[in-house]
Amino acid sequence: METPGYLSSAMHRILIVEDEQDIADLIGFNLQRAGFEVLKAHDGIVGTEMAMRERPDLIVLDLMLPGRDGYAVFRELRRDTRTVGIPVIMLTARAQTEDRIQGLEAGADDYLTKPFSPKELLLRVQAILKRSDAAPGSVDFSYGPFRFDKNALKFYIENEPAELTSTEFKLLLYLCERAGKSQDRNDLLRTIWGYSDAAHSRTLDTHMKRLRQKLGPHGSWIETIRGVGYCVAKANE
Ligand code: CA
Repeated sequence: METPGYLSSAMHRILIVEDEQDIADLIGFNLQRAGFEVLKAHDGIVGTEMAMRERPDLIVLDLMLPGRDGYAVFRELRRDTRTVGIPVIMLTARAQTEDRIQGLEAGADDYLTKPFSPKELLLRVQAILKRSDAAPGSVDFSYGPFRFDKNALKFYIENEPAELTSTEFKLLLYLCERAGKSQDRNDLLRTIWGYSDAAHSRTLDTHMKRLRQKLGPHGSWIETIRGVGYCVAKANE
């Protein structure tokens, strides 16, 4: 019997928004071979419409697109309730740190710089979808003012619904489930993103910064442990 919603083990659908046909085909071929269902859009406007209509499990979004560029597409997706929670991996054309940082600050779940190997993309996709599926045990988890509905990936602060991306959701849940214990930054990268190296340190910090902003006054629950990583404070019982 299948588990509902996000826990479904059914075939995951990936939308590739990329105008360069050969790259889209190469990525698509490799994802299909790995068992994913693949949808493709070759410009930003079609990509946005397709994402809202089809609600894929993950979107691979190139930044340089005709019609509407990747940043604009991304902002649209995050504004719309149908697509706000869909993980996005951005593709950047250049190795320029500027692009990567901008992508992460916009709230992308991960990014890859061209040229990249299809295998690397596949690993990133699998890591993100794995953590989407990994919600064992009870479906609800509460900690301090936070409540996580692990099944629907819904998040509440003092019982008011709040929007988190799926990566922010997993990150905060992971920390809350281990509250009072500091989590090493490399462990966090490995657990949430599936890899860990110095170049991706920024990924973690950028996500933390956004997460704190979204939590508003409750952002102070997350403590930075200098030289180690992050920790969610222990609640006063
Ligand atoms: Ca492009």
